[in-house]
Amino acid sequence: MKAGEHLKKTVKELYGKELPMADNKELYNSLLAMTKELLAEKPEISGKKKVYYISMEFLIGKLLANNLINLGIYEEIAAVLKENGKELAFIEEEEPEPSLGNGGLGRLAACFLDSIATLGLPGDGIGLNYHFGLFYQKFVDKLQCAKKNDWIEENSWLKKTGLTFPVFFGKKKVTACLYDIDVIGYKNGKNKLHLFDIETVDEDLVQTGISFDKKAVDKNLTLFLYPDDSDKDGSLLRIYQQYFMVSSGAQLILREVKEKGYDLHKLNEHVAIQINDTHPTMVIPELIRIFTEQEGFSFDEAVGIVEKTCAYTNHTILAEALEKWQVADLEQVVPQLMPIIQKLDKRVRAHFKEEEVQIIDKNKLVHMAHIDIHYGFSVNGVAAIHTDILKNTELKAFYQIYPEKFNNKTNGITFRRWLLSCNQELTKLISSLIGEGFKKDAREMEKLLAFQEDGHVLDQIEEVKKSKKCQLVEYIKEKEGIDLNPDSIFDIQVKRLHEYKRQQMNVLYIIHKYLEVKKGKKPVRPLTFIFGAKAAPAYTIAQDIIHLLLVMQEIINQDIQVSRYMKLVMVENYNVTYAEKLIPACDISEQISLASKEASGTGNMKFMLNGAVTLGTMDGANVEIYDLVGKENIYVFGEDSESIIKHYKKKDYIPKEYYKKSPIIKEAVDFIVGKETMAVGHKENLERLYKEFLNKDWFMTLLDLEDYIKVKDKAFEEYEDRGGWKKKMLVNIAKAGFFSSDRTIAEYNRDIWHL
Ligand SMILES: *Cc1c(COP(=O)(O)O)cnc(C)c1O
Repeated sequence: MKAGEHLKKTVKELYGKELPMADNKELYNSLLAMTKELLAEKPEISGKKKVYYISMEFLIGKLLANNLINLGIYEEIAAVLKENGKELAFIEEEEPEPSLGNGGLGRLAACFLDSIATLGLPGDGIGLNYHFGLFYQKFVDKLQCAKKNDWIEENSWLKKTGLTFPVFFGKKKVTACLYDIDVIGYKNGKNKLHLFDIETVDEDLVQTGISFDKKAVDKNLTLFLYPDDSDKDGSLLRIYQQYFMVSSGAQLILREVKEKGYDLHKLNEHVAIQINDTHPTMVIPELIRIFTEQEGFSFDEAVGIVEKTCAYTNHTILAEALEKWQVADLEQVVPQLMPIIQKLDKRVRAHFKEEEVQIIDKNKLVHMAHIDIHYGFSVNGVAAIHTDILKNTELKAFYQIYPEKFNNKTNGITFRRWLLSCNQELTKLISSLIGEGFKKDAREMEKLLAFQEDGHVLDQIEEVKKSKKCQLVEYIKEKEGIDLNPDSIFDIQVKRLHEYKRQQMNVLYIIHKYLEVKKGKKPVRPLTFIFGAKAAPAYTIAQDIIHLLLVMQEIINQDIQVSRYMKLVMVENYNVTYAEKLIPACDISEQISLASKEASGTGNMKFMLNGAVTLGTMDGANVEIYDLVGKENIYVFGEDSESIIKHYKKKDYIPKEYYKKSPIIKEAVDFIVGKETMAVGHKENLERLYKEFLNKDWFMTLLDLEDYIKVKDKAFEEYEDRGGWKKKMLVNIAKAGFFSSDRTIAEYNRDIWHL
């Protein structure tokens, strides 16, 4: 049956009406039901060996458009709807976004699942089905307010499998039940995302906001995703969640292996387990426990197999983000694992004397990453510079022991979502110029370089950008109630709020610019600064930075004189859906982390692919962007990672010195606690942030501020050379092919998984 007919039939069956009579919600539900049927018919990808990608987060975004694209029926459905007076884009708005991730790490996992299926590799995701996910962000009184994110509707992509697994916390038993979401490759077969839930979950435990009874584990285990970078604040819930995921995941993996008739002694020939950051680390001792307690393996046999099966991806060098659990906490939550962890620790001690490579340290802390490195066969970083820092600095002692385990896999993004789906106008233009081949082989995008001197093509690229800016202006007007000028320069910083990402440096620039305009120094072209960011609720300084952003938004936008030349918008509840609207409309992509701190970044890749020019530090994948596009097509500033690492080592960065030395810095920082901000903001938040800048500034904002101002002004100036700028856009698009997650996954498979 043709997809259009199938849709009409489904609408009739579900709602007893003809397609033109159905409203958008009914059409969404009909498309959901139809697509699930089509997915059910698709063959499962199979093979002798399969990868399981275990992750606490899968930030998958809305699925309808991507599933239709990957099934190859998007155009057809859009056309049929149009004939009947309906707009697929509006229907897509009806889908709630699954709230199963924080940011980059979870989004990476989602891109990887898409690419694994697209390359036709057997590989499933394993994670948790959080009912209220990560919090929903609202702004109240210029402060972030966290609400529960109730994303699961009666009809959804989740399919209850009926499979259940017992999970024990000591003697306490809970039951895991499995939900699946089909993951369809682009014009290929399907894999699965397995999400475990607790059978006895109780949504009524949550009364107001996001607070709930932390002790009722059998009811609360899958209610919320913990915001990363929160202080783990004594709560054991995160350990419960992690063990719940890996225990049910391990049982599912072994069940599948046995079902296929494979010998568990040869597990590594049939299974690779990719551990996404340290959160799933307990899968290692858990597998060893199952093998020794239930399958009759000796301890050595069990260790030998597990260490050939598990591989670890490191995502950060931020000390506070490297998980260390107290022995006492693990003993309380998972007493059955502690004897195994003790034995693993003892084996390491027998071989290596250095304290820094031990699993359990002198303070009775279990270093989860150290379990992964000693008992996994691969350790990878996520961008070239990040892997180098792991080898030469952070994990140097491990690299000296196991040089062969270390490898780099520069992150990537799926072009199906971040180009074909979110920027259909640009996709069409590219197809008209170089054909459709780039959709399967992103490296073909380089063919666009042939059009660098073609004025007509450059104009078309500019037109696409303009139309995406106009669409965003409409969307922001509707969502935030703020008017923007599509002829202004759109300068965008969207990502989790964290001091190392330095949104605070961007605000200081904006304060500086505001003061200049006030003094009569107007920009040649109006400027629009857009931010989007959630902050972990327990992260005080991050809350203060959001407050300052919202204060500046009010001051600037309410000033009749200034707002003709600049505007500021902090969008509410930044998520994948919002990203898909913001990124195609961006002129300048802000990637300004303190060098050495952003492991890779993936937002930087999405912006580049959509024709934005990067303004950034030499950090993470920015370094590789720089190498690809060349210095003419990117704006870099700031001290490099080597010099930053030295500052930390020598403890020689003193923010007050920069403040005293530079009148520009002093003026901007003082403004935070000046009359204008105090009139609209909260004294407590503003003063705390001011003091942070002067006395701590752990991520060295003031160090790079002057250079940032200089280079950013240069970028705005050069934007006026429209011919030159359009060429920069084209080169960025053309060179983005390297950052397809298809390339990343092909490398994981070639070097690690061997599927
Ligand atoms: C890509 C993405 C991120 C990661 O952005 P970075 O700039 O790499 O930190 C975070 N959130 C969402 C919604 C994304 O789509």
